[in-house]
Amino acid sequence: MALFEQRPEKYFQFYAQVHFLTCEECLSHHGEISEDPQHKPPLHPDCRCHLLEFPSKQLEYYQEQAERMKLRAQQELMRRRLWREAVENLNGSDSAHAEALFRQAAQVEFYLEEVEQLCAEKRELFEKNPDLRARLQKLFVKFYRMKFSLDKYRPIPPKLVLVWETEGIKRIKELLP
Ligand SMILES: [Zn+2]
Repeated sequence: MALFEQRPEKYFQFYAQVHFLTCEECLSHHGEISEDPQHKPPLHPDCRCHLLEFPSKQLEYYQEQAERMKLRAQQELMRRRLWREAVENLNGSDSAHAEALFRQAAQVEFYLEEVEQLCAEKRELFEKNPDLRARLQKLFVKFYRMKFSLDKYRPIPPKLVLVWETEGIKRIKELLP
């Protein structure tokens, strides 16, 4: 009986919104399950994380979710490293290596905001290299189309996806004319 009484009635799972702005600290807790959470969001100003309470009889289900969530958080960290490395490797003469890295990063996710940041950071390089601009425009348009075939966008109505896609592609062409 004593053992039975010790079993917690409920647990909490930590949810972070996994995207390019989520800080590493929050990502590191994504999926975490605890009886008595040590990390209670908000962890910092603008933190969008939350705790989800669930009954202990559903523990197994949430543990499976946790595995998937931890994997996603790790993939996002890997994606950032690849993107960063691609940006650092970008130059006017040979963009093949950078393009390969961009491609690997885009397998995980692709963010227009990061393209905007890239274009601001590499303005001079792009001004001098119309060929590079053209190559990247083509590549990023392709990535932007690929983006919406990711599982997480499946619940979004196709009409809305089409609007996003059209707007996004227009923006990429503006950024890399
Ligand atoms: Zn957070």
